[in-house]
Amino acid sequence: MIYLDNNATTRPLPEVVEAVTEALRSNWGNPSSAHAIGRKAREALEHARHAVASAFGVASPDSLVFTASGTESINLAFACLSSPEVRQILVSATDHSAVLRAAGRWAEGRKVVQIPVDVNGLTDLEALHREAEKGPSLISVGLANNETGVLSDLRSVASISRETGAVLHVDAVQAAGKVPLHLDGIGCDAASLSAHKFHGPSGCGLLYLRKRPFASNLARVPAPGHHELGLRAGTENLSAIVGCAAAANLLQQGLDLMPHVSLLRDRLESAVLKNIPDSEVHGKDSMRLPNTTNLYIPGRNASDLVSALSRLGLAVSSGAACSNGISASHVIKAMGFTEERANSALRLSLSRLTTAEEAEAAISLMERAYRLTPLIGR
Ligand code: PLP
Repeated sequence: MIYLDNNATTRPLPEVVEAVTEALRSNWGNPSSAHAIGRKAREALEHARHAVASAFGVASPDSLVFTASGTESINLAFACLSSPEVRQILVSATDHSAVLRAAGRWAEGRKVVQIPVDVNGLTDLEALHREAEKGPSLISVGLANNETGVLSDLRSVASISRETGAVLHVDAVQAAGKVPLHLDGIGCDAASLSAHKFHGPSGCGLLYLRKRPFASNLARVPAPGHHELGLRAGTENLSAIVGCAAAANLLQQGLDLMPHVSLLRDRLESAVLKNIPDSEVHGKDSMRLPNTTNLYIPGRNASDLVSALSRLGLAVSSGAACSNGISASHVIKAMGFTEERANSALRLSLSRLTTAEEAEAAISLMERAYRLTPLIGR
């Protein structure tokens, strides 16, 4: 099976599998235990925190909290940043459902505003500025869109936050491992990451917090406890954390491969545009992740294409993996396209592990699946 669904999850690198296995075999202790086995586990935990901090440009490892997922990190970020002074929560209309849901969950009577995007998927910065000027705000922006790969103008968003005194959360889940990330330097108060998106294991998220959370905010988190700056309760998932660190140690190697991944993506994209009549790329005029293409395939239902491609041996997705088959992509609709068009949006996402042969084979599989899939309504 050729795997081009890397924005859903990535295959753990062999070094990651080895690190997780080794931790389960010989470092299974509880990092809170006082004896030698516990101390060994604690050392591995803090060693992992250092490794991840260094990979993501974080000077103080204590700014990083290990969580269980990107979704948990996002929710903790909202809990920590939505202090009583914050009057409104501003998100982008194309943000991941994890962010849109967290905004609703942590609104607690505050106004939640979805800032519109243009036809290229870029957040309307004037609208963001205008809204942020209306009162103390928590702004959350996705650095890279999971469906289209469109990259936000983070520099401008950070300067709007600074000028208006807003607190800023960055959902960097999809950007990690695909574009360089120096979290200390991007001007945010919090950022969320997830190891399974950069060839680490599932079950390990990361929350970056520029400042320690206030005690008043700790009382608001869903399960406060003695772990991870007091933000979490429960024994740490050490094997996943160690696996996350192994992936972080190989992050730069992956980033070095991104120009090559981008060439493969471009080749695949232009072949599909040539082979499939009237097909288009969503977000093509924006800066995008090097690995992602979101294609409009006229006359075909994307979920039919996903099934046909799966039978032919190619794994891709329609919209966000977690919303597959439930409703048309809110991202494509927010970009101003019809429901019908959103239903015909297919996402192909490559990775550092994708080979030229696989990308080449995907071109002919796409053409075959297009021919095998019935016209919508037939
Ligand atoms: N944010 C973005 C942009 C994502 O793509 C995802 C997952 O697809 C998440 C957040 C949630 O991450 P996780 O699956 O680790 O909860």
